[in-house]
Amino acid sequence: MVVAVGLHPKHHPRDQREEDEWVRALKELSWLARVKALGEVGLDHSEPRGRWPGQMDRLERGLRLVRKRHALVLHCRGMSGDSGTDAYMLLLHIVRNEVSADQRVYLHCFSGDEYVLSQWSAAFPNFYLGFTRMVRSCTGAQTRALKAVEDDRIVLETDTPYFEGSEDSPLPHRHYNGAHLQITPKKASGADSISYRGNQFVTGSRAKSDPN
Ligand SMILES: [Zn+2]
Repeated sequence: MVVAVGLHPKHHPRDQREEDEWVRALKELSWLARVKALGEVGLDHSEPRGRWPGQMDRLERGLRLVRKRHALVLHCRGMSGDSGTDAYMLLLHIVRNEVSADQRVYLHCFSGDEYVLSQWSAAFPNFYLGFTRMVRSCTGAQTRALKAVEDDRIVLETDTPYFEGSEDSPLPHRHYNGAHLQITPKKASGADSISYRGNQFVTGSRAKSDPN
């Protein structure tokens, strides 16, 4: 078993002292051999604006703990009802300042468009994208981005109970795995041009540690 440790942008410390404690704990955990991924860290603009500066501070502090042996797991959400392009580009700007271009980067639960995809791909060649059942509500731009992602850059996420597997699966929802999720993006987004090849797809937890 391998582990990811992070500072989620939706978690807000009571004060600076608590944030410092969180960062200190994250730092110590990140040294453990079993910890193969750092994250989630990131930005969530579905939260009130007053919390955005604190999110940026914690993101930067978290990014400084990333080492080559880690996969960097990123969370990004735009404002409610927004495509999230601003948030994705702000996140890219911050990550580029703190992390080298050859870092393995995993942007989970991706909902960006083709422009966002192209900018991230250019900045980080070792770049992977996670998709969940949220693809059922993809816009046209998001579906085009999904179609443009190379097969071996896609990770299908099983973050139950939030992102259950396909209704076509015979298994109870807690037993879904990457294989059962294959059906979902294909059907839901109409992205039939994507060919799904068996064990190429893995659950988020494995992919975060070893996307290759
Ligand atoms: Zn997340």
